[in-house]
Parts: sequence; structure tokens; C-alpha cells
Amino acid sequence: MERIPVYQPRLTGNIQRYVNECLSSGWISSRGEFISRFENAFAEYVGASAAASVSNGTVALHLVLEALGIGPGDEVIVPSFTYIASVNTILQTGATPVFVDSLEETLQVDPQSIAAAITPRTKAVMVVHLYGHPCDMDAVTRLCEEHRLLLVEDCAEAFGTRWKGRHVGTFGDAATFSFFGNKTITTGEGGMVLARDDSVMERCRRLKSQGVSPVREYWHDMLAFNYRMTNIQAAIGLSQIEMAAEILRDKLQLAQRYRDGLQGLPLRTHDPVGDVTHSYWMCSVILDDPKERDSLRQHLAENGIETRPFFPPAHLMPHCRAEVDLPVAENIGSRGINLPSFPDLVEEQISRICDAIKSFYR
Ligand SMILES: *Cc1c(COP(=O)(O)O)cnc(C)c1O
Repeated sequence: MERIPVYQPRLTGNIQRYVNECLSSGWISSRGEFISRFENAFAEYVGASAAASVSNGTVALHLVLEALGIGPGDEVIVPSFTYIASVNTILQTGATPVFVDSLEETLQVDPQSIAAAITPRTKAVMVVHLYGHPCDMDAVTRLCEEHRLLLVEDCAEAFGTRWKGRHVGTFGDAATFSFFGNKTITTGEGGMVLARDDSVMERCRRLKSQGVSPVREYWHDMLAFNYRMTNIQAAIGLSQIEMAAEILRDKLQLAQRYRDGLQGLPLRTHDPVGDVTHSYWMCSVILDDPKERDSLRQHLAENGIETRPFFPPAHLMPHCRAEVDLPVAENIGSRGINLPSFPDLVEEQISRICDAIKSFYR
């Protein structure tokens, strides 16, 4: 029986040619022509004026929080139902994450829960477009404007995701993307940063490269990091951007196949709500009965089908535990499964996955 993984990157197109150009030219480190070519192509794809590449999606978050001046004494509102990097990077700045709840239907942060969590110490809101569906950006941007809060968008799972036609990452003061091996476009490890103000973007560029003075060699006038991407990563990224429209098209078709193939079962697929483009980083199912979640995953594993559970809520984790009541985050965290979601899944594999799920319920 052939094993079907949860994810597998599509590594065709110009990838070999571009990587070989890095090798034959000798530009394998964080200088070289592919860095700016990838940054420019990425910015153009999402409709931003500029983009700065970094070594992964976690440091991308840390970098923008630092560039926005978030630190000790500040509170940053973040959904508990997210990947842990969103929370850890807030903690790494010295600020306090304030956990809020999510919406049952979209799985995205609940704007009313954000409103209820605002205090005089709130400095920023971090929204996370989870599994490829956008957050309600009308409500979120309105709240941030009303209360003069900074807005950070964690778009690690949302390349290709749009809210009312506009790409996510272009609504906030800053935004970040991840190009980990299982993300919609990948560079192996890698990330990207967007910022609304040129001054914030300039700070990101300085902070990611040791804070070196632009006019004096080896002169460093700020505490900074080495968060740079390599030319090889950027070469891979450029080839991925060239194929992005096809990758997204194939993932959308896959999601539609799951939706059709899983009808009439005691579960739902994660469908788009409203005027949005869901990019389906992950094709998820949310079970009616959380008690069946682990046994369904076990059943699929026995059929050679790899899955992932939804993220457990961050407010329950030992290092960032908070005594808060977030019923939706706790509930959906225990009911979700991510199915194989890569763009090269073929019809026969999709049928096998749907049949295995149906056989569990029979
Ligand atoms: C993947 C991911 C990150 C971190 O990205 P890395 O490139 O793995 O460091 C951050 N936030 C979310 C929501 C993610 O899914």
C-alpha cells in the first residue's frame, strides 16, 4: 500500500536551473541576484510595494514585532488557536500575549473577543489567517483604527489568501509569511516580511542584518540579528512564485474534491465564508464528535494516510498557560484533522482518502 503524506512540495519548474546558477556562480550565501528577484516577485504577487526575505517564518514574526517597537510592558492580542510561533515571538520581545477566542465556522480569530481583551496596555493585535482562510479584516482593521493599535498579520498559512479580493498581509502595519517545506510555496526554510510604512520596512532590513550602518563599515548602532535568507533559498522561492498560480489552482480543486467526496458524513470541511479566497494551505475536516477524532486518525494511519490534528490551544501549554475561558478554541482544537493537502495529489489518491474516511463511519 502506497503511503500518502500530509504534504509534499512541488519542486518542478525552474528550480534546478536557478539553484545550479547559484552553485556555478558561487553565490550561495545571503548575497546574490535571486534575493532581490524573489523579494520583488513576491511583493508584486501579493500587491505590496516591497518585501524583505528572512530565514524562516518565526524570525519574520520576531523581526516585525521588534521593528514595530513592541517590548516589555506591552500586551499583544493573539488567538489561542494558532501555531505556537505566533505566541513565542511575542514572548521573545518581552511583551505579554493576551489570548482570545476564535470563531467556530471560519476557525479565525473572533473580533468580539479581541474587542473585549483591549486594555490600556494593549499595543498590537496579531491575527493569524489559519489553514488558508482569511480573518474578518473589515472588523479587525476597524477595531485597530478605533483603538489606535498596531496590526500584525501572521500569513504563514495564507499565501494566496484574499479578503474581498485583496491579498492578506496588505492590511496590517506589518505581515509575515513562511516558506517551510510544507507551506503553500516553499524555500525549504524561509520567510518574508511586509510593512506598510517605509520606515518600518527600513528597520526590518537593518534589524535582520546585524544593524550595520548603511554608510560606515562594521559600525552597528542597534542591537540586531542575523535573520537573512540565502541566495539558494531565494532561487527556490523565485521558481515557486513562477508556479504559484498553478499550485493554488490545484489545491483549490483538491479542496473541492474533498468537499464533494465527504458529503453526508458527521463532519464538515473548512469552507470559505463570505467574499474570500481560501487558499487551502490545509484541507481540514471538523468532526461533529471530538471523541472520534483520534480513532479516525488511527484508522487513516492504518490505511497508509498521514494526517495532522488541529493545533491545541496555546493558552493550555505549560510555558504560556493562562487562566482564560476560550471555549471555541478548546473545542475546535479537539475536533479537527488536516488531510493530505499537497497540490500533486492525484484523483486515485483522493478517492482512496475519501473512501477510507467513509469506511470509518460505516
Ligand atoms: C509555519 C508557521 C509559522 C512559522 O514559520 P516557520 O517558517 O516554520 O518558522 C508561524 N505561524 C504560523 C501560523 C505557521 O503556520
